[in-house]
Amino acid sequence: MAKQMVIGNWKLHGSIGQLKSVLGEVAQAKLDANVGVCVPTPYIMLAKQILQHTHVQCGAQDVSQYHIGPYTGEVSSGMLADVGCEMVIVGHSERRRLFGETTEQAGVKLRSVLDAGLFGVYCVGESAEERRQGNAEKVVATQLEVLRGLPIGLFAVAYEPSWAVGSGVVASGAQISPMHVLIKEHLDERVKVLYGGSVKSGNAAEILAVDHVDGVLVGGAALSAFEFVEICKAAR
Ligand code: PGA
Repeated sequence: MAKQMVIGNWKLHGSIGQLKSVLGEVAQAKLDANVGVCVPTPYIMLAKQILQHTHVQCGAQDVSQYHIGPYTGEVSSGMLADVGCEMVIVGHSERRRLFGETTEQAGVKLRSVLDAGLFGVYCVGESAEERRQGNAEKVVATQLEVLRGLPIGLFAVAYEPSWAVGSGVVASGAQISPMHVLIKEHLDERVKVLYGGSVKSGNAAEILAVDHVDGVLVGGAALSAFEFVEICKAAR
């Protein structure tokens, strides 16, 4: 199997100083192209510059569903490609939960990402309530519907149960593995499926050893160069 992916999601964190310091250290670590960092949009060009002599890819955390026009405040996939961005996270649980993003919108965004030649990281996952009610599989299957017909290999799916995101609670191997199998069964066995939710250096090796885990999407721990590099080293 090709090496597992590690993608960092900085969320609404960072400054020029923090980018220089954290990504400066990441740049020294000789990581490979299966590693990406998704920084706040204004910092993408700086991140590219800091990581220019490395294989680490730079990404964004969201994108407009529109291509061009009177959409104040929006940033298009074409613009992201223009500044050297290589990947985009789409449909993150925080976008869905806090900003009302629908699965349909996320699907349109992912298509625009692929059309611009960028790699997509499409997030799915259930809430604690949905899992309690026994609906986790149904929720994830519904979120996957918009991916039908998309070319496998140009995007990954990140399984991020929202109860595990930023909570310090990690899903168990017994919860992760069957969901990754379900995702592959719905799409294609070759699709890369990442796990996200409270991944840290201390649990990365264990999570990356779970069957059918092709990588991890890392939030909080991506803000520490030490943590992030350790997680990258755990990728097989
Ligand atoms: P976390 O976030 O690692 O801080 O839980 C993961 C994510 O939201 O992608």
